[in-house]
Amino acid sequence: MSKEEIMFGLLKKVVRDSGVDLDWRDWDVTGLYWNSPGMCPFITLAESLKADVEKACEVLSHEVGHHYMHRGKIDMEKYLPDSPKRDEHYAELIEAEADAFGRGLIRGLIVARNMFLELELS
Ligand SMILES: [Zn+2]
Repeated sequence: MSKEEIMFGLLKKVVRDSGVDLDWRDWDVTGLYWNSPGMCPFITLAESLKADVEKACEVLSHEVGHHYMHRGKIDMEKYLPDSPKRDEHYAELIEAEADAFGRGLIRGLIVARNMFLELELS
């Protein structure tokens, strides 16, 4: 199993433990996080990411970032691409926050995994 496959497995556990459903869809959107009142939040990833596990980790960690940073907090009129009130600067900030969260999550998982491996070896 590659490092990327191990990381993807860890990220899937984070998603499951966060109470978020994960599914795959054959479409052009690489990743989507959605949360509506009364339903389980979900992340949908593009089927094409199955051929690029490193990219799949990047996208999945980004979507987890939306779950923890933006759930119920986004002004959808300013965020949705087809909204007449779309605010590009606002949308870029939201995406940058999810990217930063995702990078931090991956770094944290690497550090935690390395610590456990060191403990097992000592
Ligand atoms: Zn995003």
